[in-house]
Amino acid sequence: MERKYLCLAHMSGNEMKYIQEAFDTNWVVPLGPNVNAFEEDLKRFVSSKGEVTNKLGNDPVKVLYPNETYPQTIEAHENEPEKLWTASLEGLQEKEIVALCSGTSAIHLALINLGVKAGDEVICQSFTFCASSHPVTYLGATPVFVDSERDTWNMCPQLLEESIKDRIAKTGKKPKAIIVVYLYGMPAKINEILEVAQHYDIPVVEDAAEGLGSRYNGQVVGTFGAYGVMSFNGNKMITTSGGGALICPNKEAKNRIMFFATQAREAFPYYQHEEIGYNYRLSNICAGIGRGQMTVLNEHIAHHQHLAKLYAEGFKAIEGITFHGNPDETCDSNFWLNTITLDAELKVKGQKDVYKEAVVGAVGGAAGVVHTTGQVHTDCEPNANVEAMRIALDKLGIESRPLWKPMHLQPVYKNSPAYINGISEELFKTGLCLPSGPMISDEDAQFIIEAIKSNIL
Ligand SMILES: *Cc1c(COP(=O)(O)O)cnc(C)c1O
Repeated sequence: MERKYLCLAHMSGNEMKYIQEAFDTNWVVPLGPNVNAFEEDLKRFVSSKGEVTNKLGNDPVKVLYPNETYPQTIEAHENEPEKLWTASLEGLQEKEIVALCSGTSAIHLALINLGVKAGDEVICQSFTFCASSHPVTYLGATPVFVDSERDTWNMCPQLLEESIKDRIAKTGKKPKAIIVVYLYGMPAKINEILEVAQHYDIPVVEDAAEGLGSRYNGQVVGTFGAYGVMSFNGNKMITTSGGGALICPNKEAKNRIMFFATQAREAFPYYQHEEIGYNYRLSNICAGIGRGQMTVLNEHIAHHQHLAKLYAEGFKAIEGITFHGNPDETCDSNFWLNTITLDAELKVKGQKDVYKEAVVGAVGGAAGVVHTTGQVHTDCEPNANVEAMRIALDKLGIESRPLWKPMHLQPVYKNSPAYINGISEELFKTGLCLPSGPMISDEDAQFIIEAIKSNIL
């Protein structure tokens, strides 16, 4: 049987048409018609309003595309609510998109535009991938980490407020920005977070790299704060091989971001530089892939969400395993990665024998990097039952991965202030990500659920 990966890139078949067009018209550069059209596609997507009409009939689900250029109707999965994306959501018409070479560069430029400078502090969700906080350090600023709440696993609004008060008390200065993350696609409690942010007048950057197409009250995440970040890396909801985008509040912000993304060139007939810029624009070839991917984005989201239903159903019957589902009806996760937690008391086959050998190679398949620390333990690692389950699944050809290790527990951030309640640490020790992409069939999902069940003692 083929190996079941967490989330593999899946082409629509339309990508080559746009790439060919780029070659035919000699636009093999980091700008061009594909880049512009991809930005327009994304703009239409993020400003669409989502409505789930709870029609639980036997008809095939109709996914109606918000983008008139892609009027396909796919036959998705039976017995699931019909989802309609209707006309633009009011207030979002002003939003503009800049396509960039990565999600990380999008966060970097958002922080620059918000005036983050060396010596500043930026609040960041601790439970995240390192790309959320690294751009803070690129700027010589200090990330201040805030722990999660249990419902969504994202930034806790109460702890956020405590951290702001405490930073003001300790430094006499307000943090310059707040980076909230939609981990594994799950919407955060963004209304409560915005309320706190507005009270202290601190701009919010939404890291929606994992949450492309997730909705909160029907609105696409990444459109609530000052800036929203998207990623099109190879393992994300859609891919451009590598790429990202920044959702900007308006045309003026877009222009400024574009300026910094293209080496901050001043308007003269020759190169004139008054500020430091970056080479962060998306290539016209990659944007061609992105345009092709936009034709299957809704299909991908529907499939990830369908798998979530199968997993939720399957794990309901298994004691000691909890599926991380939408906590309430405001949250409509894209379920980029489906995740579970294992009770600490749950006994898994082989758990006495784990953590005996050092791992060779970095997690996530960093190309060509053969890296070994020779070390078996760190001071905080997933429980033995979780590691035993990961190994057992691996032997069956099923890729799984521990939840992301919180940033406040990373040695590289040991000097950063952190406001902690223990929730992200506990999740890290007990959680696993499961295969979730378009390549995973209903049968695969059943096989994975059975494999997990059969390894419980
Ligand atoms: C992937 C990811 C990013 C960065 O995106 P790249 O395109 O890989 O640079 C940022 N934040 C989170 C939470 C991510 O998962």
